Amino acid sequence: MSLRNHVWAIRVLTAGVLVWIAVQVGQGLWLGEWRYALGGVVGGLLWLTLVVLLPLRTSNALACSACGYSYGPRILLKMTCPHCEEPVPSDICTGRGIIIALVLMAALVVGAQAYTWPMALPGLPEGEVAVTVQQDAEPLVESVVVIPQVQVEHYVLMPGSPEAEAVSEILSDYTYRRCWKTLRGDTSISGMGEVRCYLSGTNFDLSLLGGRYAFINGAVYQIGLAGDGAGAELTARIAQALE
Ligand SMILES: [Zn+2]
Repeated sequence: MSLRNHVWAIRVLTAGVLVWIAVQVGQGLWLGEWRYALGGVVGGLLWLTLVVLLPLRTSNALACSACGYSYGPRILLKMTCPHCEEPVPSDICTGRGIIIALVLMAALVVGAQAYTWPMALPGLPEGEVAVTVQQDAEPLVESVVVIPQVQVEHYVLMPGSPEAEAVSEILSDYTYRRCWKTLRGDTSISGMGEVRCYLSGTNFDLSLLGGRYAFINGAVYQIGLAGDGAGAELTARIAQALE
């Protein structure tokens, strides 16, 4: 592989990171999460700095063979030495490992994005849906023992009823995505919220646990984006709609 190709590989990497930033921003804006969009921009630029700009600034390998000047980030735009205008030679060989590493990295990033792409929560099925709402209540204190109290309410949603419509509408406001726990096939989670809603009907099993994770037909998923509080908001709204 020539030095010229090496520069091309770095250009492809840079373009890839810029596309990745655009995808993060697009997802964040689509879901109305500007913090996620901002996080994508900051993270992407930081990564670009660490992986592309800093190495280019300090690389001895990517230096002009005529004047010895390190090409620097300007090589991303122009294939000549910024110091003496000598074109980048095409006969200096570097390893092909970088190409393999770049392809693997790109596949990993694209794969992770596709796997965790947000999806609309399933709508209510036809037929009755049984709903159980659990809410943490004031704990009972008996001398030195604190006994946690849980308030449990049961409801049945009839198809077409105002309650069913309300719950349907609330569900349609949220997305879920596959996550690391889905991939591992976890069957337990920690960190349940104050309000949990369990919905079940024909081929429909939704356990909204009031936190980051939910069970949908037996598998763990993440509700919304990490840290946006969507899981807690979702169960609070359902509980309120059914009161
Ligand atoms: Zn030069």
